[in-house]
Amino acid sequence: MIDVKHLSKSFGDHLVLDDISEHVSPGENVVIIGPSGSGKSTICNLVARFYDVNAGSVSVGGHDVREFTCESLLRNISMVFQTVYLFHDTVENNIKFGCPDATHEQVVAAAKAACCHDFISALPNGYDTVIGEGGSTLSGGEKQRISIARAMLKNAPIVILDEATASVDPENEHLIQQALSALTKGKTILTIAHRLATIQSADQILVVEDGRIVQRGTHDELMAQGGLYRRFIEIREQAEGWRLA
Ligand code: ADP
Ligand code: MG
Repeated sequence: MIDVKHLSKSFGDHLVLDDISEHVSPGENVVIIGPSGSGKSTICNLVARFYDVNAGSVSVGGHDVREFTCESLLRNISMVFQTVYLFHDTVENNIKFGCPDATHEQVVAAAKAACCHDFISALPNGYDTVIGEGGSTLSGGEKQRISIARAMLKNAPIVILDEATASVDPENEHLIQQALSALTKGKTILTIAHRLATIQSADQILVVEDGRIVQRGTHDELMAQGGLYRRFIEIREQAEGWRLA
């Protein structure tokens, strides 16, 4: 599904990714972890071809991403970022962005799956409410769920997630997780993960440090290896206030 081969990327004379290779099979759930600045987001951005590689290649479904038009590549990939940008437009149009031909019923179905329908229905003009106007400011968690509804509607086979570092309030966190599991069901998933639960449930974990993949495997395999992965998990356990069984 996704094939990264000997990928290197520099910004100016700064080598950010150095000889990264990875194969992600259809339906596989791959998690990337690593220190801030290690190159995690750059890997995801190269899969979506926000910029080009300096060496090596990225393919999606057997085709080099450079062979796709921007539109056809992005039809295959949904990205959900930590920071959500919504347009100064109605809720409906924000969800329909990228799928202008979607019907209202399809928009509502996506909003329901992404745990948005209830708060949208409570807005002054429901789905026709213009975001940011007339007191209709949305919380960070609500904006995040609208971005997930947008991705649900698009229904791309590949989902790339950049998980939030700081958890929002527990109620929102629960709804966001519920929305994300609906979005990623049956999809090929690449997640930059911070939460222990996400990391542990991965089919494969890539540990990135300083632009290289320094460890790869399942949670159990990597815990047994020790090294950066186990240190990272121990810090997360302290941060989240619980220990693994
Ligand atoms: P991570 O997601 O692991 O925190 P990033 O992939 O965002 O790391 O960044 C890796 C390195 O590449 C950082 O040193 C960052 O400053 C640099 N970098 C990322 N994007 C750009 C860019 N567009 N231009 C210049 N430098 C960049
Ligand atoms: Mg990042």
